[in-house]
Amino acid sequence: MDNTATDIIAADLKNIIIADHHGFCMGVKRAITIAEDTKTRGVENVTILKEIVHNHAVVEKFRKDGIDQQFEVQDIDDGTVIVSAHGVSPHIIQAAKDKGLDVIDATCPLVTRIHDIIDKLDVRGYKILHFGDKHHDETMGVLGHAKEGMMTIIPDMATLMAQSEEQPEKLALTTQTTAEATDYAEAEKKAIERWPHIKVFNTICNATNQRQSAIMKLAPQVDMIIVVGSTTSANSVRLASMAEVLCGEAYLIDCEADMQMEWFTNRETPLKNIGVSAGASTPEFLVDGVVDRLLELSGGVASVVRPVKSRNVNTLALKDDCS
Ligand code: SF4
Repeated sequence: MDNTATDIIAADLKNIIIADHHGFCMGVKRAITIAEDTKTRGVENVTILKEIVHNHAVVEKFRKDGIDQQFEVQDIDDGTVIVSAHGVSPHIIQAAKDKGLDVIDATCPLVTRIHDIIDKLDVRGYKILHFGDKHHDETMGVLGHAKEGMMTIIPDMATLMAQSEEQPEKLALTTQTTAEATDYAEAEKKAIERWPHIKVFNTICNATNQRQSAIMKLAPQVDMIIVVGSTTSANSVRLASMAEVLCGEAYLIDCEADMQMEWFTNRETPLKNIGVSAGASTPEFLVDGVVDRLLELSGGVASVVRPVKSRNVNTLALKDDCS
């Protein structure tokens, strides 16, 4: 985006408001720290299985640090494998061990909690309806904890409603940690209406709830919301989708280089307030880059309204551009 946009929005933009809760969550910080510590300890020949977290800049940082990445255990011949924050199926961990690989598990404890719940339900013979994205890494891992045919993935209401009225007495509902809370609440309500005996486990994590609530609070205060995050990040995509619905205009970008001039020009109404949020896998320096660019476009006069207490300090040592 060139600087001609500056003149256009400089006169109007008054506030850049950063969402109260945004960016790195506990599970992501933990996974990154585990991977960084592994490298610091001098462990050689380390491979991350899948993306350590779903953010292009973070994935690229580890690649540049010499930590390899593969999507399948069969493509890792030896050394140490780190399981990502999203977790994997127990069969995959066993396959890695069977190959003689050292396994370091960086699965978020809140994903492990779902695995534990499903293990218990499975042992007791429950059929499980799991509300989640069909092809997400977390879903694939969760699926591996149920016996074949005992779990059905429910990506949306239509799929839920298409399930047979006839369900076993032992029936349970679980959900992806990063599901949209209002969508899940609707699915849960319908499931209970259809199958009053269903056992419900709302396994949406606290970080997801906080970031979604922060978007709900931010939306009425601003004319546009920019969500910083990768398209591979389910929670970033959902934040952007919520922001679009609640605010009317929202964009999901990896970093400030993705900002487009047409967002700021030829507008019917002036842009007075812009909101900024970020998915749980987005490093804070990428949020700073977007805020700095917006401030620059305002001619340096807009106020930056930050959360009272930043919960997003992270020490991830990367500052590479992401363009
Ligand atoms: S979004 Fe929630 S479940 Fe996923 S890594 Fe972060 S804290 Fe863990």
